[in-house]
Amino acid sequence: MRYISTRGGMSPRTFTEILLSGLAPDGGLAVPEVYPKISPPELEAWRHLDYPALAFEVLSRFMDDIPAHDLRNLIARTYTAEAFGSTDITPAKTLEPGLHILCLSNGPTLAFKDIAMQLLGNLFEYTLAKTNAELNILGATSGDTGSSAEYAMRGKRGIRVFMLSPLGKMSRFQTAQMFSLQDDNIFNIAIRGVFDDCQDIVKAVSNDHIFKEKYHIGTVNSINWARIAAQIVYYFKGYFAVTQSNDEQVSFSVPSGNFGNIFAGHVARMMGLPIRQLILATNENDVLDEFFRTGLYRPRTTTETHHTSSPSMDISKASNFERFIFDLTDRNAMRVKELWQSIDKGNAFDLFGTALWVKTKEFGFISGTSHHAARIDTIRQLYHEHKVLIDTHTADGVKVGLEYREPGIPLICLETALPTKFAESIKEAVGLEPARPAGFKNLEDLPQRFEVIDKDVDAIKTFICQKIEQT
Ligand SMILES: *Cc1c(COP(=O)(O)O)cnc(C)c1O
Repeated sequence: MRYISTRGGMSPRTFTEILLSGLAPDGGLAVPEVYPKISPPELEAWRHLDYPALAFEVLSRFMDDIPAHDLRNLIARTYTAEAFGSTDITPAKTLEPGLHILCLSNGPTLAFKDIAMQLLGNLFEYTLAKTNAELNILGATSGDTGSSAEYAMRGKRGIRVFMLSPLGKMSRFQTAQMFSLQDDNIFNIAIRGVFDDCQDIVKAVSNDHIFKEKYHIGTVNSINWARIAAQIVYYFKGYFAVTQSNDEQVSFSVPSGNFGNIFAGHVARMMGLPIRQLILATNENDVLDEFFRTGLYRPRTTTETHHTSSPSMDISKASNFERFIFDLTDRNAMRVKELWQSIDKGNAFDLFGTALWVKTKEFGFISGTSHHAARIDTIRQLYHEHKVLIDTHTADGVKVGLEYREPGIPLICLETALPTKFAESIKEAVGLEPARPAGFKNLEDLPQRFEVIDKDVDAIKTFICQKIEQT
């Protein structure tokens, strides 16, 4: 398996070669040269596998330059009942016949990002050890991604994490989750500023190529191909959990932000999984719903981006979307390059009335939007009708999923976080605080370890240099 760029300007590379890099050298995203196809007999055999064995089958198709024995080991160490709460890793919960929740949020930070990030931590450590290299991950977070990255990288040899967050702007739970980590290789930096200031600092440091090179600065953003690959696995797992035979089709509903999760579903479908519809749900930030309804892709500015009660979907543009357009154009890199040259200048593109837009339907995509009152209603409805509590993001997915549910086709709604992370909205919906899983009960009382720094690029650089020299 070789990887190429969506913009055509990268000679084919192996998985290990693209693992640690962010964007391709031409500004595009790495994608497999071809999608592996799973034959009906293979799919039949996969039905009976447990999660680690299934993960090996899927991932070995994409990570074929890692020796099978090593990959099996990495997977076995990642997907344990200890880390994910059960041997199923991603159990399905049936609400009523034909309606299911796929539980993806029982990892260390109680959100689905752990499924990919925990594997990434082990893959990074393994790859760095082989070349005796180091990586200093620099990131900005307003909550979920930062904690998921820190829990994946804590204690890993050859890796340090420098995570910037806006001082006093995250929820108490999110703050405690990150700041209570005591590992020597994790550095929480609370910036006197807002999230955008944090992001600007990360950009400024990354654009200093000399500094970046000298101090081995890298990132863990959602465009990393290994994260997509890891997410493909649970589409297969969910499918097998709710069907009896591979003649059946299912639909998935996916609360979406950066288009990473649902893109993994698209790849599963391209590999041959019988998926009928991929139902994309947005919150008030409806840039993706607008595209799938009208053909217009119009990224928003920061000021046009709403702060909502499903904050992990508050995005202005969807970083993985370029990969989808690459497939939509029959992998026409010149066309993608043209479209994104315009997008990168702040423009929009409109595919309405073209063959490309018609093809989004052939790929099974359909979309809808949710908003605060709808997600609160959905949480209340599931609680009263099924005695199941879901979080605000999952609720957006369920709300839109139910609008498109078809008789005779099982609907699998992906759960992307546990309700305890968004307790305020849950209280608004059902009048009670969601129960916390064991081990999280007194999180806010644990000692915290963080550094407060002004929004000053040089101060951050100095801090990073000091810590690298000391540890
Ligand atoms: C990241 C995230 C999403 C959005 O997922 P994408 O892969 O960015 O589309 C949805 N819900 C939660 C809770 C998240 O953390």
